Amino acid sequence: MTNVLVTGGAGYIGSHACKALSRAGYTPVTYDNLSTGWEDAVRFGPFERGCLTDRARLDQIFAAYQPQAVMHFAALSQVGESMRAPELYWHNNVAGSLSLMQAAVAAGCLDVVFSSTCATYGDQDNVLLDEGCAQHPINAYGASKRAIEDMLRDFEAAYGLRHVIFRYFNVAGADPEAEIGEFHQPETHLIPLMLDAIDGKRNALTIFGTDYDTPDGTCIRDYVHVCDLVQAHVLGLNWLEERRGSRVFNLGTGTGFSVREVIEQSAAVTNRVVPIVEGPRRPGDCARLVSGSTRATVELGWQASRSTLAQMIGDAWRWHQSGHYTK
Ligand code: UDP
Repeated sequence: MTNVLVTGGAGYIGSHACKALSRAGYTPVTYDNLSTGWEDAVRFGPFERGCLTDRARLDQIFAAYQPQAVMHFAALSQVGESMRAPELYWHNNVAGSLSLMQAAVAAGCLDVVFSSTCATYGDQDNVLLDEGCAQHPINAYGASKRAIEDMLRDFEAAYGLRHVIFRYFNVAGADPEAEIGEFHQPETHLIPLMLDAIDGKRNALTIFGTDYDTPDGTCIRDYVHVCDLVQAHVLGLNWLEERRGSRVFNLGTGTGFSVREVIEQSAAVTNRVVPIVEGPRRPGDCARLVSGSTRATVELGWQASRSTLAQMIGDAWRWHQSGHYTK
């Protein structure tokens, strides 16, 4: 069996990637410090606990497992937190990735699939975003991911590190079998917070800003199902195996939904009332982030077949009701 080192494999997206990798015949080796992830979510291959910044531990892991490739998910990923404490993002995300890339190169593991973000584009006045758009992040989270993208390009030029970069739009939903799902503590993401408000685990969902220059005044995002998203990663791995060259792909559906539209859909899917309050804007939020690219579909053969709002909320709701991870 071929080993793939999955950093952040105990997290939301990483754990779904491990399931997809194992279904595709790989052995996912999770490397995670459990700062935001859950050991309960590691179910599809071995688990090794460690920090990205611990180079000696990484060297040990590369030597022990001889992975064919790295899927690099481990990162801090909260826009609001990144504005309050940017040093965390430069340390964990950027310095951590540097240590990982150095260890990968030293071990001769030269294929990397990297989890980047549409937050690297920043606010671009209603433009549909494609991979050729300039990257002007407006928060430290996006800036940290852009820096890692630059690092990968420099490491390719110097050391032949081949990479596929995926710039995610908003990831949502859960494993349809409800074996794994989204669970952050504290939670900051729209859909899980809304599900908490629906079933009384919190008083209400606060809408962050109702005065944006969008049709209903709330932010617009392009939501993609986590299972579709991780399927693209398996295709990206195959792309590298076939030596098709380093490439950047957006992962979004090309359709944007406002916060109010997501709330309406959630009420419809769950058949419950969503208690809401209107609040001020959250620093660092862009008005609109929607993919304008079909590159992943055309070149990788990717299909976002589960990514309707109803399906994503339905799968998240089923997971939400079926239980959570524990420390
Ligand atoms: N949002 C909101 N209330 C919340 C959490 C999020 O109104 O309690 C909004 C947020 O301003 C953004 C959208 O929902 O427009 C998605 O935010 P999330 O944090 O889920 O993902 P992000 O876009 O930051 O990656």
